[in-house]
Formats: sequence, structure tokens, C-alpha cells
Amino acid sequence: MIIVMKSKATKENIESVVDKLHKYGLEAHLSTGKQVTIIGVVGDKAVLSNKNMELLPGVDKLVPITETYKLVNRKFTEKNTTIKIKDVIIGGSNFTMIAGPCSVESEEQVYNTAQYLHESGIKILRGGAFKPRTSPYSFQGLGEEGLIYMKKAAKDFDMLMVSEVTSIRALDIAEPYLDIIQIGARNMQNYELLKEVGRTHKPVFLKRGLSATIDEWLNAAEYIIRENNSKVILCERGIRTFETATRNTLDISAVPVVKAKSHLPIFVDPSHASGVKDYIIPLARAAVAADCDGLMVEVHPHPEQALSDGAQALTPIDFTELLRQIKPIVNIMGRNIT
Ligand code: PEP
Ligand code: MN
Repeated sequence: MIIVMKSKATKENIESVVDKLHKYGLEAHLSTGKQVTIIGVVGDKAVLSNKNMELLPGVDKLVPITETYKLVNRKFTEKNTTIKIKDVIIGGSNFTMIAGPCSVESEEQVYNTAQYLHESGIKILRGGAFKPRTSPYSFQGLGEEGLIYMKKAAKDFDMLMVSEVTSIRALDIAEPYLDIIQIGARNMQNYELLKEVGRTHKPVFLKRGLSATIDEWLNAAEYIIRENNSKVILCERGIRTFETATRNTLDISAVPVVKAKSHLPIFVDPSHASGVKDYIIPLARAAVAADCDGLMVEVHPHPEQALSDGAQALTPIDFTELLRQIKPIVNIMGRNIT
């Protein structure tokens, strides 16, 4: 439920509503707009059934919220969330590129990739150290060693780093290295892991589950925000459909739908969505035009030698072409690339 205050409501009116909610064991989340203040109520709202909250001074109306997610809900917070990480701001009028290899494979590989990306103006480096592979016989990632290589590259080129954690154990190891914690598609509904990343208070890059509905995805984000970590970035990375020509099907409509339902920033990953190098640039163009807040793409200096996802890796030359093609669209969308 949200409580919409009258435009003339005083600070005291608002405080007294909040006090009442606390008294009934409910949480109050204030959203102060230009015209009115909205108070989001979290908890078992049944306790309010006979309390006549609408009669309190300054209250305009009570609006029920049918969705199970509250804190990520646009109805709770009208304004888009922006997330500041050192000198990078995600969301708002910024368009943020995240790029790097699928997996960190060697010190040299991640260093060379980071150098090239830095020279292209990219500020966030991706790279997997704990890899969630379909086959247990496939390369599983270098673990902490990979994070050490990545950290050196990120430090030397003044980049932020994002990497996936696949378990609470991996989180304990990886957290000190990371600027942004990635939760991959396969773990989107690992609720214990979501709670733990929420408790770190570091920004979280939450990918959509392979077969997750948008509501399930937003509920996953709610798990993180409930732990008082509001820094969640959503990422559409393709979903399972009957189509086999691409690895997944990019649900481009997720971008406007998420923007309507939530105030959180939303990215698109055209690499995992398509699985095919040649389709990445067209999908990236479409994603920018759909008004996403940024892209995550996989880049490898030698895709033919990649230990994971080589077929979808862009070479540095391809990546330069991607940037060239999306820049005018980013500008048309009223954004600047960061
Ligand atoms: C990744 O980004 O490395 C990855 C494994 O992606 P996803 O979780 O979307 O499959
Ligand atoms: Mn990958």
C-alpha cells in the first residue's frame, strides 16, 4: 500500500503517519516529490484494516499495491534510481558500457583486454572468475587467481570491476575485489545468495533468470533491497524460448516493461542473449533505442582461443564498430556514454 499525502501536508503530518505505521510494526519508505509526498508501506497491511489511516491530517488517499515487490516498485519511488560508483554514475541520462572477457583466462588476456577497453573510454571491466558452466567438464574459472589478475588490470587502467559470484563462499572470496557484484542468470532465484549480496551494500548487477518472468526478476531484486541495499542494476540477457537460431531470445520488451514497473536501472547483454557474434551489434542498437541504461558485452582479444563463450566474443575491432554504431543512437536517446 502507498499513502499519498496532500500537497499541503506539513512535516508534522507526515511524521505522525510514519510514527503510526511504526507503532503497528510496519516500515515506511518516504518518497518526496515536487508536489506530494508518498509513503510506501511495507509489512502486513492487514493491521491497518480498521485504523482509518485516510482520516489522519494531511492524508489524501491510500492506494493498494497488488504486486508482491514493493521497494523496487515504481509506485513506491517515482524517480529513476541512479547509482554512483566512484566516478561512474549509472542511470539517469548516463549510458554505461560494461565490457570484458567471458572468463578471466590469464593475467595477459585480461590485462590486454582492459588496456584496449580503457583506450576506448570504457570504465567498467567485466570478467568471470567463478564460472557457472552447463557442463562440469568445461572450464570453471580461475577463482581468486582470476580476480587478482583482473584487479591489477582494473587498477592500472583506472576501471571498476564486476564479476559473478556463484555461491556464498565465492562471495566471501570475491567481495573485497569487486566494485559491482554480479548475480548470474542461473542464480537469480538463489534467495540465500541474494540476501547475502544485499548485506554487502555493494552495487549488484542482477541478471534475469533463464526462464524468469519479469515479476520473478523484480521479486529477486526486492530480496536484495530488503537488506537495505538499494544499489541494484537489472540486466536483460535473453530468455529461453522455442527458438534455437540464437542461444536465447532477447526480450527487448523487458526494457520498457521494467521501466514502467520499477525505478531501477536496466542494462541489456546482447552477447548472452544471442550467443552469436554477428547478431550482437544489431541487438545492441535495438537495446539502446529501447532506452536501456547501458550494455554488457563480451570482448576477447582472440575469440578462437577463448575458454568460454568464444562464439559470442567480439574482437577489439568489432567492439570499436559496436561503439561507433551505438553512439548516435545513444545521443538521440538524450544520453551520454560513460
Ligand atoms: C556471464 O555474464 O558471464 C554469464 C554467465 O551470463 P548469464 O548469467 O547471463 O548466463
Ligand atoms: Mn559468457
